[in-house]
Amino acid sequence: MTLAVCWSEQFAIHDSGRAGLYLPVGGLIEDDVHVDNTARITRTRNLLRTSGIDEAATILEPRKASVAEVLRAHSEEHVVRMQEVSEAGEGDAGGGYTPMDAHSFELALLSAGSALTALEAVLAGEGTAHALLRRSGHHAWRDSGYGFCVFNNCAIVARAAIDEFGLERVAVVDIDAHHGNGTEAIFYDDPAVLTVSLHQDRSFPVETGGVESVGGKDAEGANANVNLPAGAGDPAYLDAFDRIVVPVLLEYRPQLVVVACGVDSSLFDPMARLGVTATGFASMAKRLLGVASEVADGRLVSVQEGGYSPVYSPLCWLAFIETIGGLDVHADPFEDFIAEQATCRELAPWHVEANEVTRKHLASYWASL
Ligand SMILES: [Zn+2]
Repeated sequence: MTLAVCWSEQFAIHDSGRAGLYLPVGGLIEDDVHVDNTARITRTRNLLRTSGIDEAATILEPRKASVAEVLRAHSEEHVVRMQEVSEAGEGDAGGGYTPMDAHSFELALLSAGSALTALEAVLAGEGTAHALLRRSGHHAWRDSGYGFCVFNNCAIVARAAIDEFGLERVAVVDIDAHHGNGTEAIFYDDPAVLTVSLHQDRSFPVETGGVESVGGKDAEGANANVNLPAGAGDPAYLDAFDRIVVPVLLEYRPQLVVVACGVDSSLFDPMARLGVTATGFASMAKRLLGVASEVADGRLVSVQEGGYSPVYSPLCWLAFIETIGGLDVHADPFEDFIAEQATCRELAPWHVEANEVTRKHLASYWASL
């Protein structure tokens, strides 16, 4: 099998400004880089290079998305406003924590285009693909940016797969630590796109992501939220995959699996408390690849989302990408440290209980649950 990775050096020169994590500097916040900074992605690119991915995969220079392609998932008002904010040189894409500069609009188009380049490679028979990009997309609403996201890259990919390539069923599986609120909202009434999000229970956004959100009129069952407790770790994630995510996907039978590939659910991430290891991401990738192979002719497009540990996020993305590419996965250098941790190693009763709540909510829509 083959693997494509989309990457542009343009992603390495975008400055999200100064912040303490995501808060403006000043007061108690000493000057520092924004948590959604260049290093987390350049370090990932460097790691892919030194790990031999460039020899094993096809490295693709992404194209920019056209405005028409973005408009499949967003309102014209949003696109025009993003262009205006960017032309003004600074501003916010929406929600107050999504800084824009003079290059943000063009970079957001390139991010969406990178995801589309990955889609085109996969549909041309390339096998699987990962779009290494920034800005992330899954929080972006149809009418607004949100949570570091400008345009919803996964939604733009899913719409292109249906509108341009004629697919009838696409699944978007969001493994980012935070709820894929934008993707859910864009497809809430659309049975042609199954949206599944695994995320830390009521983390971000606080108001969305509940198990009761199962899809709108004519699309009931086509949205699934798996709410995981803090400290979930690999066991809770894999339990959710085996008892909920994989059975739902196999029953829905998507012709394409799109992964919103956030790794801020990792053990060392400053923006969530979920405790997943690089090995855990490889295990999720293996299951998603299994579904894609069984029902979607192996078509899997992975699109970069959150992940804010400059040291550990790259290792998690590497493990995920190597797995979807059918490559040997490098050992996690933190393996010994992780083995000594008391948490995240065994399936706890509260993990089972949390997943059982989701399973019961979805069981009336999915016979296999
Ligand atoms: Zn996130």
